[in-house]
Amino acid sequence: MPLNGTPIRTQRKAPAHRAIALLTALAVGAAGGAPAVSPARAQDNALRGIPIIRDAEIEQLLRDYAQPILRTAGLAKQNVKVVLINNRSFNAFVMDGRHIFIFAGTLFEAKTPNEIIGVLAHETGHMAGGHLQRLREQLASAQTASIVAMLLGVGAMVAGARAGQGSGDIGAAAILAPQSAIMRSLLAYVRSQEDQADHAGVKFLNATGQSPRGVVELFKRLSNESLFNSRNVDPYMQTHPMPAERVAALETLAKSSPYWQRKDPPELQLRHDMARAKLSGFLERPDTVARRYPLGDHSLPARYARAISTYRHSDLRQAVAQIDGLIQAQPNNPYFHELKGQALLEGGRPAEAVAPLRHAVQLSHSNPLIEMLLAQALNATNNPKLAEEAVNLLRAAIAREPDAPQAYAQLAIAYGRKGDLANADLASAQAAFSRGDLKTARQLAARAKTRLPVGSPAWVRADDIVSVKPSNIKTRN
Ligand SMILES: [Zn+2]
Repeated sequence: MPLNGTPIRTQRKAPAHRAIALLTALAVGAAGGAPAVSPARAQDNALRGIPIIRDAEIEQLLRDYAQPILRTAGLAKQNVKVVLINNRSFNAFVMDGRHIFIFAGTLFEAKTPNEIIGVLAHETGHMAGGHLQRLREQLASAQTASIVAMLLGVGAMVAGARAGQGSGDIGAAAILAPQSAIMRSLLAYVRSQEDQADHAGVKFLNATGQSPRGVVELFKRLSNESLFNSRNVDPYMQTHPMPAERVAALETLAKSSPYWQRKDPPELQLRHDMARAKLSGFLERPDTVARRYPLGDHSLPARYARAISTYRHSDLRQAVAQIDGLIQAQPNNPYFHELKGQALLEGGRPAEAVAPLRHAVQLSHSNPLIEMLLAQALNATNNPKLAEEAVNLLRAAIAREPDAPQAYAQLAIAYGRKGDLANADLASAQAAFSRGDLKTARQLAARAKTRLPVGSPAWVRADDIVSVKPSNIKTRN
């Protein structure tokens, strides 16, 4: 898993120079772009403060689920990202036309890829149907973060918000009103929009040759509330009203699909099972993992979950042996090598982590999150000869993941080790900027400017940060 975003990760003791995990990661900004942060890019950062799970394997899976749907919905060019939120509730929603949020609990509950794909198709239906217009007009992205943050604990609160479908001045409500009013006015789709999103979702599934059965079955389970105990009101049910007649109408429509009977390809089902096993291993207690994946289960997902749980909670040597077993089963699976590297790195053996992580970078075609992890391991070796490699990896990774504060922090370490104090200051400034600590960012950028050749690209970047006014950081949507 991730460089950032899993609270669990911060529970391990590690020397400060290695402990780059953040409790609340990380913004997911627009992809692509220049190899350095710019203030303009950081303004895109609508998600700061939301506990997001970053993981190369799961993100790739969610992209593969979402891409055909987004393409057929005409949204391919919007670079919509599926963002996995570290929360065990079942929930999924769209807010800003650029992100589909999905709670980790949704993956826990969805037994097949088709169920998740159906949820994504429904959410894409909201996006394509313009149901977000109100939000886009009135919600600042800083507020997006706070509202999503509210969703994280919210069952009861959302329940209070069901009463009506208020409209009114949402901007003011977001600042002034109690949380329940925000939920009521912003997050509850109206019934007609649910019907539209259901229809659109089925259309997208049909157009991509996929069955609408998964989402029907999932919604049936939800509307029976069998998944949830009664004191824990399910947020998804509150934001997507789901009376029985809606589910019945969806089922009738879905059963007319020529693909109703179509099953997920087995290899996709395996990836899905692996992703769920990974979440279990990282997020659940060892006894829960052991119950879910008992020793007698020799499937790859079961072994994966147990290996992760072992590395996180007990013996590193045993964990590495288990991971080596996984690598033997699938030598070209980049995520097994990544896991081995991460286990060794967090177990205080960074020099041994380097080789498996290099392998993982190569097998993953330079996934930026894995590049960051490798750079972190290189830094942790304290070997100045490896600093140049770390710098190159981080610059390449940041080019694709520009809103990752801890990548800049690692870049600062790598530059420092090379003795390049000017660029170390600049990277530290960018780290602070990316975390939203503008004051520190400005101070460090000002110091960097004194050390950089006037007018050089690095100097210009430092100057950009020095010149940012707090009022420019706000929002746009
Ligand atoms: Zn909905």
